[in-house]
Amino acid sequence: MSKLETRSSLLRQLNERRILNTVRLHKKISRANLGREIRIATPTVMRIVDNLLQKGWLEEIGTDDSTGGRPAMLLRIRAQAAGAIGIELGRVYARFVCVNLLCEVNHEEEIEVASLTDASQLVAFVGRFIERAGLDPANVIGVGIAAPGPLDPVRGQLLATDDIGVQWHELQLVELFQSQLGTPAFLANDADAAALGETWFGRGNDFNHILFVLADAGVGAGMAVHRSIYCGANSRAGEFSHTIVDINGTLCSCGRRGCINTAASAYAMVAAIRQARHVDQEENVLTIIQQAIQGDGPEREVVDRGLAYLSVGIFNFIQIFDPDLVILGGRTLLSAEYMVRETQERIRKLCRNSGIEVIPTGFGISAVAIGAAALVLQHVYDHTQLIG
Ligand SMILES: [Zn+2]
Repeated sequence: MSKLETRSSLLRQLNERRILNTVRLHKKISRANLGREIRIATPTVMRIVDNLLQKGWLEEIGTDDSTGGRPAMLLRIRAQAAGAIGIELGRVYARFVCVNLLCEVNHEEEIEVASLTDASQLVAFVGRFIERAGLDPANVIGVGIAAPGPLDPVRGQLLATDDIGVQWHELQLVELFQSQLGTPAFLANDADAAALGETWFGRGNDFNHILFVLADAGVGAGMAVHRSIYCGANSRAGEFSHTIVDINGTLCSCGRRGCINTAASAYAMVAAIRQARHVDQEENVLTIIQQAIQGDGPEREVVDRGLAYLSVGIFNFIQIFDPDLVILGGRTLLSAEYMVRETQERIRKLCRNSGIEVIPTGFGISAVAIGAAALVLQHVYDHTQLIG
């Protein structure tokens, strides 16, 4: 392909994404208003819209008679024309969502990560999941995977970690999905993906700087800036769990003392209760939280200490990053209204009522899986990626 052809193909893609995103944001819009909105010449708009109608991604839905002039045909996204798969590969659970072009969930499932012996099983599971979701494999535009990390999103690789099983170490997960399912695949840190999902399709839709805090088995945070994940120089931005909030605190697995992880993660709360109660049996963090809400025993102390660490960590993050909005998610935080309310209240006090908005995700425990699907859908709507 010549240089000129490459440029014109890039321009076509760029305009296509701008058109799709504008139609998405308006829900329904005429060709003339579309052209005016994104300042593209009418013949170009007509040509791209015709292609997208032919492809089935846009549809005509009757005329707009409200303007009083000649009625104009309205366009909208044909949401069911294609779909994306989002996978949250967590420490304990793997959650799967199948979303349409508007990132609305059509089908979701969850399994325990321990039930997968290797990554090929994961890929095979996704193949069957697509069938159960009733999606034609030819209409799957991609698979997004979100995991706790450490990971390399550029190379699409999980790195060595003790948090998930040894079978996942150094695994080229993106390459595996691409070769075995024949579809584009993307990998990101779990909280980063959740932040992206919120900024494109969730409660962060009207905000430019979003902090997503994930309190699950571990804790994490992700930043989305102008609708893109902020990764930092080494993809380590938002390494929230190992930020220090107590220099004399408990020894962390990373070798330092007083990381947020040592008090606010589900692992830490469970370990603290086992120690306080001198028990060896497996404790469930959700039971611990329920007991904390009902009484004043060690459970209340452990949960409140966890929330104190978490809130100080979030406050420090706000001071450095200056977000428009903080969104809370993860099974631990979302398990009871008390957890969200208490976190909001503590942050509000630390921020001295500066007005920073702290809200729970609207996607519930699917926020990370939906964020993983957004990694795929971003390539449908985000024209800035092509410029960057
Ligand atoms: Zn640490």
